[in-house]
Amino acid sequence: MFRTIMYGILAYMAYRAFKHFFSPLQGPEEREFVRGRSPRETELVKDPQCGAYFLKQQGVKGKSNGEILYFCSEECRIKYIDGQKSG
Ligand SMILES: [Zn+2]
Repeated sequence: MFRTIMYGILAYMAYRAFKHFFSPLQGPEEREFVRGRSPRETELVKDPQCGAYFLKQQGVKGKSNGEILYFCSEECRIKYIDGQKSG
């Protein structure tokens, strides 16, 4: 009877140690996700037309004088290119 209780306690302690050993794995995994983000994906660029800052990936790509430019909207891209032509 005493032995059975001892085995029960040992089994419980082994279970606790096992759980404690594996549970911290959840933390670094989440940090890895944040760290895994590429800095390029969150790069801010300035709209040369209106001066607004926006994420490069969300901008409108335009070409002016052989240079790749990014605009906050299609409207700004047209305005900028039109301005380049006239002035
Ligand atoms: Zn703009």
